[in-house]
Amino acid sequence: MKVKNKIYCEVCRISFIYKGEVEAGQEIVCTVCGAELKIAETEPEIKASRYIEDPETEIRRRAENFAGLRNYTFNEDKELVLEGLVGKHKMYGDFYCPCRFDNIPENVCPCLATRMNEVRKLGHCY
Ligand SMILES: [Zn+2]
Repeated sequence: MKVKNKIYCEVCRISFIYKGEVEAGQEIVCTVCGAELKIAETEPEIKASRYIEDPETEIRRRAENFAGLRNYTFNEDKELVLEGLVGKHKMYGDFYCPCRFDNIPENVCPCLATRMNEVRKLGHCY
């Protein structure tokens, strides 16, 4: 029995350790970025992918999961930023930060700087 599983997150593009057993169809949350993933297969390695269809629900849940994981709170611009993220998803196909110019994987919300604890230094995300 494997109790520690290494799972690749296609949102933040790194692997995280999931403690506990996983089985196909199981829904889990990436412990790095808060993305909700569903286990697609477990052999020969674990594959998980995004599963929420509605973009607004997906990014809202991801942001709330991420805030919960890091013990962050939202500022008064939460709805505005979520709206911007949904707009970016509509235009460019993913949740690129609406505050950043480049639509690159590092800027998919929560962006790399935020995942790397920038909030602790700045007091807020970019
Ligand atoms: Zn992730």
